[in-house]
Parts: sequence; structure tokens; C-alpha cells
Amino acid sequence: MHRFTFVLLLSLLLNSAMGQAPKVLIVNAHPDDESGVAVTVYKITQELGGIVDLAVITNGEAGYKYSILAEKIYGHPLTQEAVGRKYLPKIRKKELRAGCNWVGVRKIIHFNQLDTHYTLDADTVLQSVWTVQKIRQQLTQRLTKEKYDYIFCLLPTEETHGHHKAATILALETVKDFKGKPPVILGVSTGTKTDTTQKIFTGLEKYPVTSLRQNSSPAFQIDRTVSFGHKNRLNYKIVANWLIAEHKSQGTMQTFMNQGDYENFWYFDINKPERKEETRLFFEKLGKTPFVK
Ligand SMILES: [Zn+2]
Repeated sequence: MHRFTFVLLLSLLLNSAMGQAPKVLIVNAHPDDESGVAVTVYKITQELGGIVDLAVITNGEAGYKYSILAEKIYGHPLTQEAVGRKYLPKIRKKELRAGCNWVGVRKIIHFNQLDTHYTLDADTVLQSVWTVQKIRQQLTQRLTKEKYDYIFCLLPTEETHGHHKAATILALETVKDFKGKPPVILGVSTGTKTDTTQKIFTGLEKYPVTSLRQNSSPAFQIDRTVSFGHKNRLNYKIVANWLIAEHKSQGTMQTFMNQGDYENFWYFDINKPERKEETRLFFEKLGKTPFVK
């Protein structure tokens, strides 16, 4: 083998082993749930040269209650349920693609399942609303084809939307049953600097696949407040805002997502314990690579 080819191959292998150019799939219920990992995604695609795809399970039509500011933009009374449910699926797809462009998401895969209404209950969603077999099959096909290193999904806490819980349960089940080398799957939450209470979550009792008993606090963190640029006046919250600002039909996003200082990642128990170290190295690398020095 030519020496240059050997060195190139070795460096690619090392990059892969060190998680320097990773391939990630986000699995979410709604178009806008990706805002919780906006900065991590930006850093992976723009600073490490990695690839991030996004699978969105519902069509987002139940977001009509928050669409008042978008009524003038799109010329429809979107807060009326029938009107919102009719127009929002298309509008939210466009907003999602525009937001994802700012952070470098490659492909967005839509499963177009029904976004019925707000509920805390994941059981009904999984048993009678979504076609779960089809979702699992399609996710498995993607994992087989793309060989992702990581999956990000929302942390399925008791108080979060039932759709968020259901999407994460489906992603976890898919990874658990995957025949090849599975990606490491991580739960995502956001946090603020002012809230210093220790976060503990051990998983949903009814769904053992969500167990975090061995890892019941965030394992990794990306700090959005790292500053850089002229007089250190810029930080990564700006990037999160680019994405959030595209979701014009979801009026409340800017009131709470702007407050997120950290993107936290939880290491689900179904991951092999020995892969935690490579994941730690990946986050360490990601935390050390400011785009502007
Ligand atoms: Zn959501």
C-alpha cells in the first residue's frame, strides 16, 4: 500500500474511533424538538465535519394553538383548529427545513404520523395513534443503511409530552433490537446556569428500555454560553436563535428555549458501558472546538 494511502486510511480510522467526524440521527416527535440540540448539531456539522440527519415522527398539526403570530405571515387563521390542522403540516415542514439549514442538518425524514393533541400519556400514542411497526421498520432500515454513531432523542421524563416519550421509546426499542453494531443512544435535556439543582432521572417505570438507573444524571454537556469573536461578545446561543427563529408558527419557542444555557446528554443503560468512554471523548472534542478562536 502506498504510504500516503496508508496514512490517510489510518487517520480516517482514528477519526472514526475518536468520534471526530461522527454521523448522527436525531429522532423526534415534532418539528421544533430539534431546538434542544441546535448548538451540538451546529458544532458537529460545522466544526467536526460530521453528518446529522433528523427523523420527525408527527406532522406537527397540533401546534395550531401557538400559531397566532404566523397568521399574518401565512395568510390563514391558523389558530382555528380546522384551519391549523389543514395548513400547518406543510408550513412546519418548511420552517423546519429552514431552521435546520442554519445548523447544517443533512436529511430530514418525515414519518407523517398524526399529531393529535397534548397528552402526557405515551401508551395510547404507541397503542392506537401511530403505526409503530412501520416506524420501527423504517428506523431500522436507516440504521442499517447509514451506520450512525449516535442517536439523539428527548429525555422521556414523566412531565414531558407523551409524543416525546413515545418517540424516544421507539428509538430505544429500535436500537435494542438492532442486529448490527448499534449507535450509542443519548437522551437530551436543556438546563440553565441559574438552576443548580442536581438532575436525577432513572427512566420510566413502565418502559424498562428507558432505564437510566446506572446513569441517572447527565453524562455529557455542551455549553451554549461559550463566548468567542470580537471582544468575546458572541456565543453559541446566537446559533440556537437562528434555528428557533424559523419556527414562526410556534409562538412560544423564543420565550423558553432562549434560556437554555446547556444541552445535556444522558447515557441510556441499553448502551454498552464500555462505549461511554468513546462518547466522552467525542463530547470532550466537541466542547473544545470553538468555530471562531
Ligand atoms: Zn415537541
